[in-house]
Amino acid sequence: MRIDILTIFPAMFDGPFSHSIIKRAMEKELAEIHLHDIRDYATDKHRRVDDYPFGGGAGMVMMVQPVERVINALQAERNYDEIIYMSPDGELLDQPMANRMSTLSNLVILCGHYKGIDERIREHLITKEISVGDYVLSGGELPAAIFTDAVIRLLPGVLGDETSALSDSFQDGLLSPPVYTRPADYKGWKVPDILLSGHDRKIAEWRHEQAVKRTEERRPDLLE
Ligand code: SAH
Repeated sequence: MRIDILTIFPAMFDGPFSHSIIKRAMEKELAEIHLHDIRDYATDKHRRVDDYPFGGGAGMVMMVQPVERVINALQAERNYDEIIYMSPDGELLDQPMANRMSTLSNLVILCGHYKGIDERIREHLITKEISVGDYVLSGGELPAAIFTDAVIRLLPGVLGDETSALSDSFQDGLLSPPVYTRPADYKGWKVPDILLSGHDRKIAEWRHEQAVKRTEERRPDLLE
C-alpha cells in the first residue's frame, strides 16, 4: 500500500511514523508513506497556501491552486483509489472502514488547517471525506496519522502475530476481553484461574463471555 500525505506541517509525522508498527511496515516494504509539503506547490514566491475567506469572518482558508497542483503531479504518476480529505464533517472512521481501506493500493490524504479548505477542492478533487470523531482538532495531521495507523496495522504481514488484529475490539462487533500477564499473583491481585488452567476451549469460551459482558456494559449500541 502507498499513502501520499499532503500537509503544510510534514514534520508533525516524524514521531508517529518513525516508531513501532508503522516503522516496521515501512522497513518490511509492506507500506510506503510519502509526505508532500503543500507549500512546495505554492504559485507565489512567499509560498502562500492560505488566504482570507470571501464574505469575511475569522480564520484563513487553504487555497485551491497549490492543492490541485500537488494532486495533479501525483495523479500523473499513478492511479489513486481515493483522494481523502480529513474533515470533522466526514464519514466517521470505524473498524469496518479501516478494514475496507486496507484492501486498497494507493491513497492520497489531504490535511486541512486553519478554518478549513476552499470548498471547491472538496467538490472537484476529493473523493472521500473522513472524520476521526465529533470534535475539532487544529489540523488534519493527527487525524491522518490515526487513519494511517488504523489501516497499515491491518496489512498482511505487518503485525507479528497474524491473528492479533482479528481479536482486537470491534473486529467481531465486540470489545476485547481483559488480558493479563505475569505474575499470576501480584500483592494478592489474582489472574482469573481459568487463564492458568491450560484448557484452550474453556479459555476461548471465557474470553467470549467476557467480551460479550464488556460490550453489554460499555457499548450496548454495538450489539443492536
Ligand atoms: N472549520 C472547520 C474545522 C477546521 S479544523 C469545521 O468547523 O468543520 C482544521 C482542519 O483540521 C480541518 O480542515 C481538518 O483537516 C482537520 N480536522 C479537525 N478536526 C477533525 C476531525 N475530527 N476529523 C478529521 N479531521 C479533522
